[in-house]
Amino acid sequence: VPAAPHSASGEQVATFDLSAVAPPARRARRWTPRRVVATPPAYDHPHGRRIMERLEAQGIEVERLRGPRLTGVRGESDRETYARAKNTMAIVVSPPSRRKLQPIAPSADWRFDLAEGCPAHCQYCYLAGSLSGPPVTRVYADLDDILDGLADYAGRGTITSPKPSRHHEGTTFEASCYTDPLAVEHLTGSWRRAVEHFGAWDAPVQLRWTTKFDDVDTFIGLAHHGRTRVRFSVNCLPVTTRFEGGTSRLGDRLAALRRLALDGYPVGLTIAPIMPIDDWRSMYGALIAGVAAAVDGVTGLDLTAELITHRFTPGSRDVLMGWYPRTRLEMNEETRTRKHGKFGAVKYVYPAPLMTEMRTWFEAEIARRLPGCRILYWT
Ligand code: SF4
Repeated sequence: VPAAPHSASGEQVATFDLSAVAPPARRARRWTPRRVVATPPAYDHPHGRRIMERLEAQGIEVERLRGPRLTGVRGESDRETYARAKNTMAIVVSPPSRRKLQPIAPSADWRFDLAEGCPAHCQYCYLAGSLSGPPVTRVYADLDDILDGLADYAGRGTITSPKPSRHHEGTTFEASCYTDPLAVEHLTGSWRRAVEHFGAWDAPVQLRWTTKFDDVDTFIGLAHHGRTRVRFSVNCLPVTTRFEGGTSRLGDRLAALRRLALDGYPVGLTIAPIMPIDDWRSMYGALIAGVAAAVDGVTGLDLTAELITHRFTPGSRDVLMGWYPRTRLEMNEETRTRKHGKFGAVKYVYPAPLMTEMRTWFEAEIARRLPGCRILYWT
């Protein structure tokens, strides 16, 4: 059991609540949007109507818009617009461009989307700079068409490295690039349907998503047939407690991981974004010890880890500084190495010697504490 760690600033940070590794007695964290709107094309889709019925059954009013344009989100200031958007959910039809899937190595062969936007408030959010406009959560009504369209991509792998260790998983489909699935599942039911779709699929395929939430009740007992790998996005406590507003507590995420693993799901860790905070070895050591406790005694455990260091682009930093002007997140270009990503975009990463030091430590520590865990990649 990890000892009570102290944060870089010396304040005491709560220890893992390892009692939470048992099935939780309390309710999982669930978001209730203040405003829900539906656009007219969404009513034409059975899943759009299902979402509306589900929300109304939960006592959430759905405002039916007259046209496809979402209005009433802009406030008097950027802060007000941000707050309004983060409290708004829109039921819409996915943009046609989303039907042509894009490769998404190293996470998966292909990405597809069932929603875009997320109600949480992570100060390093990956969506900053990726999505345009106010950060409204849009959920897609045309789920059945989206799932049917995936068949065209089965058998068409795109990951070239480190594919050999993942061949047995078949063609992999990532469903959390632009959202956090378990943040909105109780409002949509979309990912449960996706799990059933993949479970019934007669081909070597895998559905994947990553989450910072713990709402897994409706996934227990589904006919998943081992074709869905749920990864939990985790970090050391100083990072989760300081920078991940509105998400589930770390102990609750680990408890949810255990519940899915006991139900036969392949599971995973997305350790991200890794940051070399003060005393990072003992902080991340406590995290890995917490994971080891969470998976202790799980028969047939299939656990992977994806290790992603913190990075930012000039665009994402500007958006984040607008959303979280008082953040203590380190985004100093001078201490970073400038790199060119895909399509020439500039990003700032940690310098190579530090990356090597951290990578070596993580690989050794995971091998020591979680011997059955497969590391899929480090970036
Ligand atoms: Fe962004 Fe993920 Fe945090 Fe949601 S949970 S705010 S998508 S980083």
